[in-house]
Amino acid sequence: MQPFALIRTKRIERAREIVREKPETRVLRAGGIDLLDRMKEGIDEPELLVELREVLWAGAKLADGQPLIPPDTNPLPPAPRYAEVGALTTLAELAAAELPGLDALHQAAGQAATPGIRNTATVGGNLLQRPRCWYFRHRDLVCLKKGGDTCLAITGDNRYHAILGGGPSFIVHPSSLATPLLALDAVVSVFVGDAKGSVQQLVPLAELFVSPETDPTREHSLGPGDLLTQVWIPVLDDMRSAYQAVREKQSHDWPLVEAAARLRLDQAGSMRDVRVALGHVAPIPWNASEAAALLEGQAPSVDLFARAADAALADAAPLDGNAYKIPMAKGLLREVLHRASGLALPE
Ligand SMILES: Cc1cc2nc3c(=O)[nH]c(=O)nc-3n(C[C@H](O)[C@H](O)[C@H](O)COP(=O)(O)OP(=O)(O)OC[C@H]3O[C@@H](n4cnc5c(N)ncnc54)[C@H](O)[C@@H]3O)c2cc1C
Ligand code: SF4
Repeated sequence: MQPFALIRTKRIERAREIVREKPETRVLRAGGIDLLDRMKEGIDEPELLVELREVLWAGAKLADGQPLIPPDTNPLPPAPRYAEVGALTTLAELAAAELPGLDALHQAAGQAATPGIRNTATVGGNLLQRPRCWYFRHRDLVCLKKGGDTCLAITGDNRYHAILGGGPSFIVHPSSLATPLLALDAVVSVFVGDAKGSVQQLVPLAELFVSPETDPTREHSLGPGDLLTQVWIPVLDDMRSAYQAVREKQSHDWPLVEAAARLRLDQAGSMRDVRVALGHVAPIPWNASEAAALLEGQAPSVDLFARAADAALADAAPLDGNAYKIPMAKGLLREVLHRASGLALPE
């Protein structure tokens, strides 16, 4: 690994400025798990890491109110309450936080990686980590994502790649927190700007991610030095949620497929405000809106959940090594719908 220096600051503006002065060799560091991996792998060689520990907030709680944003630019979905999670919160802290209705998020945070990594990895770093595609992670290979002209996974070993929304790059988004956060309709606070100055903005989580069709070289819309500062999650009355993942190994591994669902049951027992997301199936965290539309206003049933799972995967276009993900994603999606709605799983 190339030698590097670490700099600390307490001011968010200064952290951003330092990176923007020389973006090709300076980078923000949170827990450092993904960043140091990339440096060891030789695919990133920054000279200066800007430590975020004293810049950003760590914590997860029910918010006292909403962020101060003019109503016409506020993308927060209406809700009686919001949960607020600081970007520097570790996955272990998030797993242990007591937030009503956010079981999906607690479960994802508590299952990711290993206990040691969960004690260090942060919410912001998890959402902004770079993909695990082994061609991308190989220092000597230059695929489309690194500015080359072809995706090596198409004709190579693509067993862990995308079955939905792929092309021209077929990565799967690596963040396990993004899947439940998308189902929970989260919004992120970001600190962005241009040469004239910086501002706090709220961005719906889905808009943070960039599809490879738009730009195969990046996964999110933040520029060099821009910071993700907080995550806001609408907490609806009687909200329920569930998350599940399948991994080859129970620990020390990324998921093969993930699913998360959020809903509430009205007095008649019908599902309302349904949202469904899939992870590790597409280059961006995948909003299964067709499944949610089928479920909205309906009573939970085994048959309905099977149809919703079929709808979510209807557009799947597997590569030659990853068709196994289709039945796996359908099964997981049905399972999280059963768990979130309380309908017993069939024998
Ligand atoms: C064996 C193993 C298994 C794993 N399994 C899983 C898994 O199951 N699920 C999963 O989701 N992940 C998994 N991971 C990945 C791990 O969770 C991530 O690497 C980690 O969450 C990244 O967080 P971090 O705080 O260490 O980020 P860092 O490495 O510090 O940062 C990651 C990137 O984000 C940028 N960044 C960080 N914070 C901010 C911010 N607030 N604003 C702007 N930019 C920022 C950094 O500049 C960097 O480019 C695994 C990792 C290992 C090694
Ligand atoms: S999937 Fe993306 S990162 Fe992997 S080889 Fe193809 S272009 Fe590169």
